[in-house]
Amino acid sequence: MYILSSPSGAGKTTISRMLLGADEEIKLSVSVTTRPPRPGEIEGVHYHFVSDGEFDVMIEEDDFYEWAPVFGYRYGTPKGHIRSALKDGQDFLFDIDWQGTQQLYQKDQQDVVRVFILPPSLEELQRRLTGRGTDSAEVIASRMERARAEISHWDGYDYVVINDDVEACFAKVRQILAAERMKRQRQTGLIPFVRELML
Ligand code: 5GP
Repeated sequence: MYILSSPSGAGKTTISRMLLGADEEIKLSVSVTTRPPRPGEIEGVHYHFVSDGEFDVMIEEDDFYEWAPVFGYRYGTPKGHIRSALKDGQDFLFDIDWQGTQQLYQKDQQDVVRVFILPPSLEELQRRLTGRGTDSAEVIASRMERARAEISHWDGYDYVVINDDVEACFAKVRQILAAERMKRQRQTGLIPFVRELML
């Protein structure tokens, strides 16, 4: 379970897309949300969009690995097909916030890798959010407020990567994934001649 978290505007979505495009071994865990779709977002690709009532039912039926309220909506990781795929050794990328990260980590400390992407500075984050040109000053101020709150949870992560250059940041995110895959305990049973020696 490879978790990428960051405050909005730090570039996590771009990095996630680059990783999914470059690495066929990792799949995105598609979250469930009560947030309405933004233009261009596709059901089942970016999120599973559900009503509040449907989300309640999923909670009651214990369908979530984790869920959390984020900025007025609810978001959750459905167990669905992920559980069996994880058992088969499939890697998953999770684009979730610090609350979800904490919940996944509490459930499974062995198989969770937590990466936090930071902007180079708060000033730069503000510049990026303003540069999008889509949001009012009020919306930007509230995003900055949330970013500060999100960043205060950076100590709940294994790795921190500063995104001052998208390509460089992406390369680091890939290096972390590569190194984590090489950890001895993740290779148990995967190397036939070593497995034979251990029998
Ligand atoms: P957005 O609405 O911009 O797509 O996402 C808002 C925030 O919700 C982001 O920080 C994102 O990482 C987080 N998020 C998305 N899916 C999940 C999820 O399944 N669980 C949790 N805990 N957070 C999520």
